[in-house]
Amino acid sequence: MDVKLTWLDTGYCRQLELFSRQGGKLKMIRFHALAGLIEHPEHGLWLFDTGYSPRFFEATSAFPYSLYSKITPVVTQAEQSVRAQLARHGIAADAVQGILLSHFHADHIGGLRDFPRARLYCFESAYLHVKGKTGLAAVREAYLPDLMPDDFEERATFVDRMAPTALPQKYAPYTTGYDLFADGSLLAVDLPGHAKGQFGLFLRDRDHGELFLCADAAWSSEAYRGNLLPHPLARLIMSDRQAYRDELHRLHLLSRQCADVRIMPTHCGEVWETTREGGDFSWRS
Ligand SMILES: [Zn+2]
Repeated sequence: MDVKLTWLDTGYCRQLELFSRQGGKLKMIRFHALAGLIEHPEHGLWLFDTGYSPRFFEATSAFPYSLYSKITPVVTQAEQSVRAQLARHGIAADAVQGILLSHFHADHIGGLRDFPRARLYCFESAYLHVKGKTGLAAVREAYLPDLMPDDFEERATFVDRMAPTALPQKYAPYTTGYDLFADGSLLAVDLPGHAKGQFGLFLRDRDHGELFLCADAAWSSEAYRGNLLPHPLARLIMSDRQAYRDELHRLHLLSRQCADVRIMPTHCGEVWETTREGGDFSWRS
């Protein structure tokens, strides 16, 4: 079943390009934090991650959480939060049925508290890894506990407790995933390495064909096309460096073997630039 995906830009952090991939230049680039709005014909509105929101600044106001904003200086405005962007288009926060959390880094869960009624889908392994972490232990995981709703567990559905399903053969080397609505529309795939329990999402957009939202398994389209690892310093923040290397290679293989599927990393400037035109809420027409 086809869905409609619209990317929302929630702000960015500045980083050296050289930090993000081999062959990158010694220049500052913007790492946009995109959130995906998914319209499902039967299940309504869903989000893939929530990007930044102004809560990021409150959550990083005191030490040691302030270290996070020093390492990745963030630029975002109140009107860029997902909730504010939806409101401008007449969509109430409560219309969002659920949020798919690729992982728990702060640039993906920043808007979570703005959707107090949404179901929250994540891997249990990802949640258990950050659960209860505070202070430096949290910062080390790029996790800010103040961004989490108090009733997270009551609203959570753990994707990795579902029965796995075989993926279409064309998605090789990805072979198994989780069919979230049991209709083939959203297929979640384990993407370890960057963060424990990270997952990506295969879907078919009604206008743009097959897409693979790969979260942070690659930071840019150049990286998966060229199988270009980040700078060794950046690799230090990966939860499992060998798994990250393996995942980037799998993405690279998919891009070579299956031209039908467009791979979309969350922080890729090219994804944002090429989808913003005409992508802005065109699903409503
Ligand atoms: Zn990220």
